[in-house]
Amino acid sequence: TSTIQIENVHRRFPDGTVALEGVNLSVQPGEFVSLVGPSGCGKSTLLRILAGLDTATSGVARLNGRSPSDPQARQEMAFVFQEPTLMPWKSVLNNVALPLELRGVGVRERQDRARQSLELVGLSGREGAYPRELSGGMKMRVSIARALVTKPQVMLMDEPFGALDEMTRQRLNDELLGIQQQTGATVVFVTHNMFEAVYLSRRIVVMTPHPGRVAAVLEVPEAYP
Ligand code: ADP
Ligand code: ADP
Repeated sequence: TSTIQIENVHRRFPDGTVALEGVNLSVQPGEFVSLVGPSGCGKSTLLRILAGLDTATSGVARLNGRSPSDPQARQEMAFVFQEPTLMPWKSVLNNVALPLELRGVGVRERQDRARQSLELVGLSGREGAYPRELSGGMKMRVSIARALVTKPQVMLMDEPFGALDEMTRQRLNDELLGIQQQTGATVVFVTHNMFEAVYLSRRIVVMTPHPGRVAAVLEVPEAYP
């Protein structure tokens, strides 16, 4: 069974903009899929529908067989935005622990789990730092650690590395692949950078705008010349 099922999804905004028209997509457990396409092709809208942050005008979106707005589905996924939306008054450790705090997990357990999560992104030793003391790449690592702390089955990532310099982006790409292999998470990764998509995923969904549609689905071979 698919982790993510999108069937004939349309999204039309009140102003008449058709952001998505008849989009189909299924993602298997543990798969790493990239959504690629120019600005305005509906990538964010599709991701937001999967995250339960927006709803389709028509069609079906399912996460592990449930509606993305279902509380259980929301427990099973995590969202990473381009802007690392960290709480500036909280330490790195407590920023990462926040999703557990919101779920009512006790302070000892959530701080232990936040430490493990920070280890996964290579930030052990930075628990006590505050966001303003960190570089852009480090802030993004903290955001990823925060997303991982609930051990989500599904990670939805909307241009997470888009604002970073090329070297940092490349390093984070490698780290993300390592984390995905370790955790077995299903990842849907939005980017407008085809090279990044080819580097990260075995399957690339290419979208086109006006209206937003899936133009092609590319399988990337394991090794290519
Ligand atoms: P992408 O992420 O690929 O850049 P989006 O999903 O953000 O594309 O947007 C798809 C289309 O929907 C664009 O034309 C965008 O301007 C439009 N759009 C997005 N959000 C809204 C909204 N709330 N109201 C009206 N139009 C919107
Ligand atoms: P910080 O400013 O370091 O981020 P906060 O005041 O935002 O700390 O607290 C965030 C969470 O950490 C709260 O839920 C709080 O209960 C917990 N916390 C704060 N101080 C301690 C402490 N000394 N030991 C364990 N947990 C703490």
